Amino acid sequence: MADCGALIKEALEQGFSFACELNVEALEFMPEVRAMCAADRCQSYGKSWNCPPGCGTVEEAAQRASAFKQGILVQTIGQLEDDFDWEGIEAAHQRHRENFEAFTAKLRGRFGDLMPMGVGACSICETCTYPDAPCRYPERAVPPMEAYGLFVSKVCSLSGAKYNNGPQTITFTSCYLLP
Ligand code: SF4
Repeated sequence: MADCGALIKEALEQGFSFACELNVEALEFMPEVRAMCAADRCQSYGKSWNCPPGCGTVEEAAQRASAFKQGILVQTIGQLEDDFDWEGIEAAHQRHRENFEAFTAKLRGRFGDLMPMGVGACSICETCTYPDAPCRYPERAVPPMEAYGLFVSKVCSLSGAKYNNGPQTITFTSCYLLP
């Protein structure tokens, strides 16, 4: 069984701004959240294997998650110059992606089976193979929490994390379900 306390410490050493135990019991995989993806406000729906519908159904996600009894939540908090500091937002996003990918690889090496849930659409390849051929890097292309039907602000508050860290900050949240 994973030692969540030790992993939280490791996550902070990896470079995340915040990490805590994930309230696994509170995870709710909701079709309503998936419906927001289908509205395509982020213009990622149906464009890669890590976003809906390519990442599988909400029911499949819930079924897979039920095999795990614990997890951790990780965040990157970026300080912004103002609300329109797009460079600052992108820099924090990039930092989160890099730390998340590195930490995911580390955890996969240690635990084998786990369920990472990330942030944002996949941008690993210049052109995604979806839907004509299999994903080139299935272990790296981690679907975002919302794509699985999770309401991220609710997962944060039920796990004791802040979804929003106040004015002139941006927070990126991901999590891991662990054996
Ligand atoms: S790794 Fe490449 S092929 Fe796989 S989802 Fe991402 S962009 Fe598409």
